[in-house]
Amino acid sequence: MQRPPSAKLFVEGRYKKLSRDLPQTVFFCPECKGHPRRRHGCTRCEGFGKLTRDSVQELVGWVLGAALKTRKNKFHGAGREDVNVRMLGTGRPFVMEFVGPKVFDVDLAALEAEINRRNAGRLEVHGLHWTEKSRVRVVKEEKHAKEYRAAVETGAELDPAKVRALCGKRLTIVQHTPERVAHRRADLDRERWIEVLSIEKTGEQRYDVLLRTEHGTYVKEAISGENGSTRPSLAELLGTACTCLELDVTAILDEVGKTEAEFGAEIVSREP
Ligand SMILES: [Zn+2]
Repeated sequence: MQRPPSAKLFVEGRYKKLSRDLPQTVFFCPECKGHPRRRHGCTRCEGFGKLTRDSVQELVGWVLGAALKTRKNKFHGAGREDVNVRMLGTGRPFVMEFVGPKVFDVDLAALEAEINRRNAGRLEVHGLHWTEKSRVRVVKEEKHAKEYRAAVETGAELDPAKVRALCGKRLTIVQHTPERVAHRRADLDRERWIEVLSIEKTGEQRYDVLLRTEHGTYVKEAISGENGSTRPSLAELLGTACTCLELDVTAILDEVGKTEAEFGAEIVSREP
């Protein structure tokens, strides 16, 4: 490609996270913050500076950064999922910013294949292409409804009439900021919509629940209710305790919840 005028390069694409041990960005140790000197002697991370071996940012950044000859990068995702949540379907949009690259003519398709070869079974990236700085804000701020598959354990076998009454309707729920994010999110009540698409029995008091939720919904809490902090929750509507054992994001939709096919077509058409 032509050498761009700035000392930054922006690469856009989508990632699929196939494992439950991969954070989106570098997971610095909360004690020493990965500081090069302070991390020595840190008991929390045992001097490693991080709490996980790697992240989506690092697995992508190591390959692209080596080619572009820079180690400095920033990862901008269209939202994020918890470490133990898989990101499936067509993946989550992201823009990666590389600071001070020394090489500019790299083959992104070859590097994409290299990232996927090195991380088979853990991470896939798709559609890598050069983009502009202005896309960072768009990707970060666009609101996406999402579809999830949740493996749910219940306190009792579900009543088929209650399941039928729940499926296929858009419900409004009110969520109080969950305990697990209270340290970084304002403590308030948020109104969100959710749709239960299907509930399928997979074992004794085990169900696969497919659901679609508005941007910013706390899905695990929408399922369990977390002691009344989400109302109504699936547990409340189904009349039994519900615990989310595993969660996968299966589709990133547009703001109002348009289907994957419609939204995917829009994304593809934007690529050069
Ligand atoms: Zn540490």
